[in-house]
Amino acid sequence: MSDLVLKDIRKDFGSARAVDRINLTFRHGELTALLGPSGCGKTTLLRMIAGLEEPTRGQLLLGDTDITAQPAHKRKFGMVFQNFALFPHMRVIDNVAYSLAIEGMAKDARHKRALELLDLVQLADFGQRRIGELSGGQRQRVAIARALAQEPQVFLLDEPMSALDAKLREEMQVELRMLQQRLKITTIVVTHDQREAMTMADTIIVMSNGRAEQIGPPQDIYHRPANAFVADFIGRTNFVDGTVHSGSLRIGDQVFETNSTPNFADGSAVRVAIRPEMPSLDNTMPLSNRLTARITFVRNVGSTRDIHLDTPAGPMIVEYAIGENARDFAVGDQLDVHLPPSALHIFPAASTDRAA
Ligand code: ATP
Repeated sequence: MSDLVLKDIRKDFGSARAVDRINLTFRHGELTALLGPSGCGKTTLLRMIAGLEEPTRGQLLLGDTDITAQPAHKRKFGMVFQNFALFPHMRVIDNVAYSLAIEGMAKDARHKRALELLDLVQLADFGQRRIGELSGGQRQRVAIARALAQEPQVFLLDEPMSALDAKLREEMQVELRMLQQRLKITTIVVTHDQREAMTMADTIIVMSNGRAEQIGPPQDIYHRPANAFVADFIGRTNFVDGTVHSGSLRIGDQVFETNSTPNFADGSAVRVAIRPEMPSLDNTMPLSNRLTARITFVRNVGSTRDIHLDTPAGPMIVEYAIGENARDFAVGDQLDVHLPPSALHIFPAASTDRAA
């Protein structure tokens, strides 16, 4: 029942800083996703947690124990890598029992344990097969069973779904999450796929340039992005320019009500992030917070339509749900867009470029 705590962790490769002053607590039994663009330091951070990479500075604690200097094999954290790293010529059951054999567990006992684990990942009948005779999803389950063999206190996965096709990936995300919840094992998943992070995680850590940009539950990260980088990286976002005058937001020459009370100096240039599903195009919308717009393109996307608009604030995409009373939209139509106060996330203008 121990939390894993990272204190001021840093990693330099020569003069390049891969991970910068990371302070995090991974709570016991939770699944945390490390999410960010390529090169932001996710894998380096995971490898330091695993003991495969030594931090340049900082401390790792598991409960009260300082494990910073403990080598990987002493930590006994379960790991699943991108390519699963299974032994292709061994039988499934021997792959799963491998670490137990190294530990010196007797053959009968380790096979019994391996069968229990294969049962857990729904591969009880596959023990005698060779790895080469399995599908991608089955291999991934073997890799998970193998990583769980030593009853690890912490379970680490680096892009565990990247070798799977899209449909199987979604199924495995749900399966892995259900298994993790059943076992209540502290789990850290590295991914660059926001849907994967949203599907599985209790907590998402959004990283860029070696730093944690935001830490929180998926819904918070999506609905309350801490900065423009997170708003841009997670989900789809429209950005429009604005200014702040006497505490109010102005877009063009119009004043908009907002929920946030930005503490910007008078006249500050800001960028406003707006999720495409938040604006309203229905006639029942309030009169305030409106922009006039012209439709430039309509894209049907199954149950929703993307309406591309030209507005005085710049181009904008609005996601329109196609329900019973859905209205028709044609290119060239003029219409009003209502931007509810809760849709407007205001950030300093200078911060909007992607940090990575
Ligand atoms: P990806 O999603 O592409 O795997 P990542 O977020 O996992 O990326 P890391 O692999 O942790 O990123 O790399 C972070 C930075 O550290 C990158 O700039 C990378 O080039 C650098 N880096 C990683 N490992 C080493 C190494 N052994 N030597 C030198 N630089 C490294």
